[in-house]
Amino acid sequence: MPGKPEKADRPTKTPVCSICGKPVDPAFPPFCSKRCANVDLHRWLNGSYAIAGESLDEDSASRPDDAED
Ligand SMILES: [Zn+2]
Repeated sequence: MPGKPEKADRPTKTPVCSICGKPVDPAFPPFCSKRCANVDLHRWLNGSYAIAGESLDEDSASRPDDAED
């Protein structure tokens, strides 16, 4: 059974923006534009802050130091 790697679901050669799925712009890797880069940055910051605050508070109240994941 001859496999045909080129008939893959989606070409893995071209990296795509993880924000919108457009082809990555070499000027803003791994994003397609500065806008998407900023979007990701904001997501990361917001998520980080939210998770850190929540997790810390909940964790501290529930279990002192038993981080499994
Ligand atoms: Zn994008």
